[in-house]
Amino acid sequence: MASASTATDETSEEPTEEESALETARRQLQHAADHLDIDQNIVERLKHPKKVHEVTVPIERENGDVEVYTGYRAQHDSVRGPYKGGLRYHPEVTREECVGLGMWMTWKCAVMDIPFGGAKGGIAVNPKDLTDDEKEQLTRRFTDEIRAVIGPTKDIPAPDMGTDPQTMAWLMDAYSMQEGETIPGVVTGKPPIVGGSKGRDGAPGRSVAIIAREAIDYYGKDIKEADVAIQGYGSVGSNAARLLDDWGANVVAVSDVNGGVYDANGLDTHSIPSHHEEPEAVMDHGAPETVSNEELLELDVDLMIPAAIGNVLTADNADDIAADIIIEGANGPTTTTASAIFAEREIPVVPDILANAGGVTVSYFEWLQDINRRSWSLERVNDELETEMLTAWQDVREEFEARDVTWRDAAYIVALSRISDAHEARGLWP
Ligand code: NAD
Repeated sequence: MASASTATDETSEEPTEEESALETARRQLQHAADHLDIDQNIVERLKHPKKVHEVTVPIERENGDVEVYTGYRAQHDSVRGPYKGGLRYHPEVTREECVGLGMWMTWKCAVMDIPFGGAKGGIAVNPKDLTDDEKEQLTRRFTDEIRAVIGPTKDIPAPDMGTDPQTMAWLMDAYSMQEGETIPGVVTGKPPIVGGSKGRDGAPGRSVAIIAREAIDYYGKDIKEADVAIQGYGSVGSNAARLLDDWGANVVAVSDVNGGVYDANGLDTHSIPSHHEEPEAVMDHGAPETVSNEELLELDVDLMIPAAIGNVLTADNADDIAADIIIEGANGPTTTTASAIFAEREIPVVPDILANAGGVTVSYFEWLQDINRRSWSLERVNDELETEMLTAWQDVREEFEARDVTWRDAAYIVALSRISDAHEARGLWP
């Protein structure tokens, strides 16, 4: 399935025209496994989640009616540490989608070498249909239903589509009240006042900018002469755009759902309101030219960053993409067919599981701060994020250079090697 994503945390989207998230996750697993000498039994194990919890969540609506929603928590693999992944409130949440997206979280944490496994959960509900009080009730009841299987050393949810820091604060409170003590480490993406991390909101965009900067350098370009186009001006797009702008890049085009603005001399990214500052106001910026989202993707730029929704680079436009380098800011912006076309055309595509992993990385920092009861400065968060991103970039680059593979394959090879080595070392419980 494909859906517009406005996720806010450890998210993994659905990347092909034809495939479900689960099919994609399994295909990518097998693809990486084909490059590695690993036990096929481990690969087989990883094609399945460890557990999927399905619960019903009743709430009393404000008109007095009781409605019952279905919620899930899919826990894919925890060989490297507690399960980690977002919690989404969306009408199209299904068991299978949670399983597939949970698998993607396993790869994302492993490529970053974060000691977490992968999970994903959600409730099949349209949060826009609920009042704040109803959302709070829903979150508290759902937390209680899954309380036995989550926790700071078991499974740590985070915001995703339709959920936000407030949702995480309710979840933390509901969990803590039942446990009889304040346990901030049960979720990440909380408001800083209750144990959230500084720098968490901007982290995915920051990691996209760091990886973009490294890729520009890797391909022998000067960031100060690089033209950049970015689709989506939300958390990921605006933070990446502003950092790249600050580092000297020429951000020539940005867009939101209504379309984009273009200035060959470079836009003033700080004066264009992000989605959170003023929703869908990019077009109101007085740039010399406007572009449609389709045109933006096809601009002849050094670097293009799809940072809005999944499945925007497809068989239909892959041949018309003129960018020299693509950095995936959104989850799953490139379909399988488009990926193959880009490989054929030798356009490097740095994958989402590496580029936007700043979110889950700072979630890990948040968890460390929570269990140590000590908060970090913004400077420390950003410095440590930079270090983690550069290490992951280096690890992926080594595989990319050592094998004749795409950046995506290289990232999955790094991830799968770590997971399979851990399984090998721990062995199979008889
Ligand atoms: P957001 O809600 O903050 O912003 C989304 C932006 O995309 C907005 O500017 C919106 O107008 C634009 N948009 C929506 N539909 C569009 C369309 N059809 N065409 C063009 N633009 C469109 O979202 P975000 O948090 O920045 O997330 C963007 C992507 O990054 C998603 O794929 C998300 O899953 C992924 N991601 C987000 C995070 C995170 O923590 N924010 C982390 C990792 C990955």
